[in-house]
Amino acid sequence: MELLGSKDEVRQAVSAARREGKRIALVPTMGALHEGHLSLVRAACGRADYVIVSIFVNPTQFAPDEDFESYPRDLDGDSAVLRAEGADIVFTPTPAVMYAADAQVTVDPGPLASVLEGETRPTHFRGVCTVVAKLFSIAQPDLAFFGEKDFQQLAVVKRMARDLDLPVRVVGCPIVREADGLAMSSRNAYLSAQERAAATVLYRSLRTAETLALDGERDAALLADAMEECIAAEPLAVLDYALVVDAATLDPLDAVGDVPARALVAARIGATRLIDNIALAGG
Ligand code: AMP
Repeated sequence: MELLGSKDEVRQAVSAARREGKRIALVPTMGALHEGHLSLVRAACGRADYVIVSIFVNPTQFAPDEDFESYPRDLDGDSAVLRAEGADIVFTPTPAVMYAADAQVTVDPGPLASVLEGETRPTHFRGVCTVVAKLFSIAQPDLAFFGEKDFQQLAVVKRMARDLDLPVRVVGCPIVREADGLAMSSRNAYLSAQERAAATVLYRSLRTAETLALDGERDAALLADAMEECIAAEPLAVLDYALVVDAATLDPLDAVGDVPARALVAARIGATRLIDNIALAGG
C-alpha cells in the first residue's frame, strides 16, 4: 500500500493500474476510520482490482462555526487498518495541495442540497460536491463508494455524477451500527459516556417510525411526529429535524408505501450534531 500526498502521484499510480486493465475504485473519507468506513473499503475491494482511499478533512464543507479544527485525525491508525484491508493507495492531501490559494470555481449542488442538512448547513454540499468532483478527476475511478449513513450526501453525489456526466458509478453501502444501534460516526468520539448512552435515541426514533410503518401506518406526518416525540423524551437531545421523504428525490411525502421512503433524523446530543436514517416499508 502506498501513502501518497500529491495529485500527480495518484494520477500516475492510477494510470499504471489502468494500463494493466485494472478496475479502479475510490472510497472518499475524512479519516478517523471505523467499521462503517471499512465496510466501504471491503465493498470496493470486492468489486474492483485497485482501491484508492482518500483521507481528507475537507475545510470547504465545514462552516466557520463547525468542528473542522477539532475533527478527529489519526493517520497512523488509519493507514494500519487500510493496509490490513488491502487498499492499494491512501491519498492524504493537505488543504494547500487540494485547493489553489486563489481557487474560485465550485460545484453548485442544486436544490437537493438545500433541504434537510442544507437547511442547517447551507454551504455544506457545495463543499462536498466540489471536493468529490476533484477527487473523481484526480483518481478517475470506475466506481466510488459512499455510505447510506450520509443519505443526502449519497443522493447529491449520485445526482452530480448523473447531471455532469461524470464517468463513474456511485455505489451506496448500508449503514454500519454499534451493537446498541448507534450509527458509527467519527463524531461519536466527541460524546461523553452519558451522551453516548443518550445518542441511541436517534436510532430508537427511526425504529419507532419503521415499526409503525410496518404495522401499516402510512401517514408520513404521524411517523415524523412519533420520531419527534421519541427524541423529545431524551433530555440530552435537541432535535434538528425528523422527516419522512421520497428516497429518490428527498421530497417530503404525505404517505409512505407508494414509493421508496426514507426517515431521516438529525439531533444535537450536547455539543455534537448526529444524523441517521432508515428505509421505511415500501422503501
Ligand atoms: P466521513 O469520513 O464521515 O466523511 O465518511 C466517509 C464515508 O463513509 C461516507 O460515504 C460516509 O457515508 C461513510 N460512512 C460513515 N459512517 C458510516 C457508517 N456508519 N456506515 C456506513 N458508511 C458510513
